[in-house]
Amino acid sequence: MTILIHPAVDSKIAATADNFLGGQLVCLCQQDKVVVHVTAQCAHNHVCGCSKCWKPAGATFAQIAVVSRDSVSVGANGHKLTVIDSNAAIQRHACRECGAHMYGRIENSSHPFYGLDFIHSELSAESGWAAPEFAAFVSSVIEAGTPPDKMVEIRTRLLELGLTPYDCLSPPLMDAIATHVANN
Ligand SMILES: [Zn+2]
Ligand SMILES: [Zn+2]
Repeated sequence: MTILIHPAVDSKIAATADNFLGGQLVCLCQQDKVVVHVTAQCAHNHVCGCSKCWKPAGATFAQIAVVSRDSVSVGANGHKLTVIDSNAAIQRHACRECGAHMYGRIENSSHPFYGLDFIHSELSAESGWAAPEFAAFVSSVIEAGTPPDKMVEIRTRLLELGLTPYDCLSPPLMDAIATHVANN
């Protein structure tokens, strides 16, 4: 049985479109859907094994990317949004009915990623979002219940998909965090 990573990568990874300018993220409710407008292409898209990122049913990983916060606005049914953990560095605004995380925002202006919002591009019907580039926090899937003896298979599958597995973020993002720390 093939390990299921995430529906956005399990069969075929959709190509990044040139000049893509964002789209609408729509929650999973049958009616009164929460709609979030994103007016930019996303960056640093990746699959993430941490226990905080929202995962669709059956997925081992989440898929998550960033956009500048000024490109994100709530379009409809914002009253259904709730912040999962207001003490977390990333305030994840989720639909309280279907549970989908619509955007994650950093309110601490000294955080290395302040100014960026985290989004799940699979909540959009538009195609052309930047494709996932790597896998972050891979070992953390064990915390969510994946048997440790599956990890070789998972890392092999990620490499097969072209998603280099890391047990933290990718080197460019870890460098960005360290640069921020060095400069502050
Ligand atoms: Zn919903
Ligand atoms: Zn994560």
